[in-house]
Amino acid sequence: MKILVLNAGSSSQKSCLYDLERLPTSPAEPISKADIDWHNKLLTTKTKEVKSTHKLTEDRVSGIKKMLENLWQGETKVINDLAKIDIVGHRIVHGGDYTQSALITPEVKERIRSLIPLSPNHNPSHLEGIEVIETILGTVPQLAVFDTAFHTTQPPEIATYPLPYELSEAGIRHYGFHGISHRYCAGRSAELLEAPLESLRLINCHLGNGCSLAAIKEGKSLQTTMGFTPLEGLMMGTRSGSIDPAIPLYLMREKGFSAEQVDTMLNKSSGLLGVSGISADLRAVLAALKEGNQRAQLAFSMYIHRINSSIGSLLPVLGGLDALIFTAGVGENSSLVRAKVCEKLTFLGVQLDLEKNETARGDQIISTPDARVKVLLIHTEEDWVIAEDCWNFLKKA
Ligand code: ADP
Repeated sequence: MKILVLNAGSSSQKSCLYDLERLPTSPAEPISKADIDWHNKLLTTKTKEVKSTHKLTEDRVSGIKKMLENLWQGETKVINDLAKIDIVGHRIVHGGDYTQSALITPEVKERIRSLIPLSPNHNPSHLEGIEVIETILGTVPQLAVFDTAFHTTQPPEIATYPLPYELSEAGIRHYGFHGISHRYCAGRSAELLEAPLESLRLINCHLGNGCSLAAIKEGKSLQTTMGFTPLEGLMMGTRSGSIDPAIPLYLMREKGFSAEQVDTMLNKSSGLLGVSGISADLRAVLAALKEGNQRAQLAFSMYIHRINSSIGSLLPVLGGLDALIFTAGVGENSSLVRAKVCEKLTFLGVQLDLEKNETARGDQIISTPDARVKVLLIHTEEDWVIAEDCWNFLKKA
C-alpha cells in the first residue's frame, strides 16, 4: 500500500510517502520525504539515494504540485505514476469535536473550514493541501488525522473554561493539540516499559517550537496544557503560553494595541524569544546563557519552571505517575532541559540516570533502574501515526 502523508503548516509543507506490504510494529522509513520552506520558497526532496533542492518561483499551489511531481519524475522519482498512491493522510491541527480520524468528504472539509477562526495559521493550509490532491489525484481517499482528537477524552470539568456557559456551548473550550504525538508516545512508552498501556499513568512532554504536556491514563488523555488554541500552557519558542488574561485587555485599553498587534505579540514575539531577546531556538539561548547573558538565564529558568509547575498541575488527575516522557526537538535533544526538569521532581520518585541522559540516542528509558517514576526519551513519529491510521482505514474499508 502506498500512503502519502501531508503535514501542512503556515510556513512549511511536509510530505512523506510510505510503501508498505504489511503494517510493521515499529515505524517504517518513508521512500520519499519532501519539505517546502515557504519563507525561502525552497523545496527539498529526499529519497534513499538522492537529495535535491529546488527554488520555487510560483504560488503555493504550484509548489505543492511540484512536490508531488518529484515523486514520479526526475532524479527523485520513486513511483511510476501518482495513481499508484492508495490513500493520502493529512495532519489537521484543529478538528473540533472529531474524536477520531475521518475520511475527507465535502462535509468534513466544511467542518475544517468552519474551524479556521480557531486555527487561522493551520486549517487554511490543510484545506489547500486537500484541494491540491483532489485536483491532481481525483478521487483517491483522503483521511483527516486530527491533533485535537486524542484530547476529546478530557472530562467536562477539565475541558470547560469558567466562563458564561453559553460560550462553552458555542465551542469555546479546552481542545488541546499535539494529540498525534501524545498518542504515539503513550503507545511507544508502553512498549519500552513492557507494560499494558491501560495500566500506565503518564505525562508526555512534547517540547518543540510549540510545547505541550499531556496527562495520559489508561491510554486516554485526561488533561493537556494547550487549550482553546495552541497558545495556552507552557512557555514556547515564540508563544507566551498562559498569562493573566487581563494583560491583553490592559494593552488594548491603555497602550493602544490592536487585536492584531496583541495576537502577533503573544504568538510571534513572546516566549524564549521575547524574554531572552536572542532567539526562539533554545540552542541559541543556551549559548548566550553560557556567556553570562542574564536575560537568556531568566528565559531558560522560566521555561523550566513552567514545565515543572504544569507537571505538578497534571498530577491530581492521574493520581500518581509511572513515567515522564520527553519528546520533540527540545525534549529529544536537550539533556540539560531533561536534567533540570527532573531535578525538581526527585520528591516524586523521579530519578534520572545522569550518564544515560547525556549519551542517550533513540527511544529508551533514562531513569535509574530503581526509580519509582521512569523517565523516557522517545522520538515522536507523527507521520507514522497518520500512515498507520490510513493503513487501518483502508484495511477496514
Ligand atoms: P516543531 O514544533 O516545529 O515541530 P521541533 O520539534 O522540530 O519543532 O523542535 C524544534 C526546536 O527544537 C528548535 O527550535 C530548537 O529550539 C530545539 N532543538 C533542537 N535541537 C536542540 C538541541 N540540541 N538543544 C536544544 N534545543 C534543540
